[in-house]
Amino acid sequence: MVIKLALLPGDGIGPEVVAQARLVLEAACEAFGHELQTREMNIGGAALLASEDPLPRETVAGCLASGAVLLGAVGAPRFDAYPPAKRPESGLLRLRRELGVFANLRPAVCLPSLEALSPLRPEIVRHSDIMIVRELLGGLYFGERSTEGETGSRRARDSMAYAEPEIERIARVAFQLARARRKKVTSVDKANVLDCSRLWREVVGRVGGDFLDVELSHMYVDSAAMALVARPSEFDVILTENMFGDILSDQAGAVVGSLGLLPSASIGGKVGLYEPIHGSAPDIAGQDLANPLGAILSSAMLLRHSFQLEPEALAIESAVREVLGAGKRTRDLAASGQAFIGTREMGKLIVGRIRTSRPAAHTSGC
Ligand code: NAD
Repeated sequence: MVIKLALLPGDGIGPEVVAQARLVLEAACEAFGHELQTREMNIGGAALLASEDPLPRETVAGCLASGAVLLGAVGAPRFDAYPPAKRPESGLLRLRRELGVFANLRPAVCLPSLEALSPLRPEIVRHSDIMIVRELLGGLYFGERSTEGETGSRRARDSMAYAEPEIERIARVAFQLARARRKKVTSVDKANVLDCSRLWREVVGRVGGDFLDVELSHMYVDSAAMALVARPSEFDVILTENMFGDILSDQAGAVVGSLGLLPSASIGGKVGLYEPIHGSAPDIAGQDLANPLGAILSSAMLLRHSFQLEPEALAIESAVREVLGAGKRTRDLAASGQAFIGTREMGKLIVGRIRTSRPAAHTSGC
């Protein structure tokens, strides 16, 4: 298969982690007999410097002409004073809209070798394997808003709106994912207060009727927040709207450990967008200190969700588990006083694992 990717390294540590993800993708493609074609384009601060636009038109066109997009991170302190539409982050929000990706998938898995990174006791976090499915293009973040009045008596308003088709399409993504996992969907809302949530609950229940093999339960967002820290291993797929998902997915990430490890996928639109959840980490940029595993695991999600290459995705994920299982750590994962390796060395070890497990991987790919 020809795998055609748009690479958007972006700012800060973005180029460093995308470079390692690309090497890993190359190794996986070589092992399974695929041809990888990549094209690098600008986004964020890098694009602002080159063209005064955080999302140049060529980048949008290049992404739309690709099979998937892999992004590093955007943002840098030098742009903090720029007006909102000119900030690097606005390029990313616009890209998500241009691609029409309405479903954000954020896995949070507690790897046995990294239990100690969780702020929770090992027996609480052990076996946690959660997939958060967040609606990405609707709700409060995209509703009508205004600020009126004079300083001292101003009134600001944000509004949340959801239409039935928007709820239905994200619910279908969650149920389908659950089918390939442990067959449990927990839909999170605030139906005791919000009209949007009452509609959400009704539509999700209706969609659930088409997936009778998947167990559906509903939870208020406040109860879900508590359960995520008290009993994280009981969740399988969590389905929720935009703002609740924004908050709960960060919480789930914190429950299982380091920011640098966590991947994400945004799908459902014209082209899928894959990115580690961390930012551009300007404090460590250019020092070979960034953990590339969030980007590398995002590339596994890319192969799985945009190209339906499950064995290839598993080969990358197994390589990551094995390298971590062998005790290799980037600085953010290392205990105090423990030896750590750099960004490039971590990438090299993952590539090495993929290459050495090549015969087995190749067999399962055929
Ligand atoms: P951040 O995620 O960049 O960094 C938070 C902390 O985690 C820092 O101490 C950083 O060194 C560390 N860290 C992050 N990723 C790491 C990795 N891969 N390996 C090791 N350590 C890592 O968040 P921030 O400091 O709040 O934001 C920095 C910039 O990134 C800002 O401009 C912000 O707007 C932007 N940002 C971008 C995205 C994105 O591109 N999706 C997401 C969040 C923040």
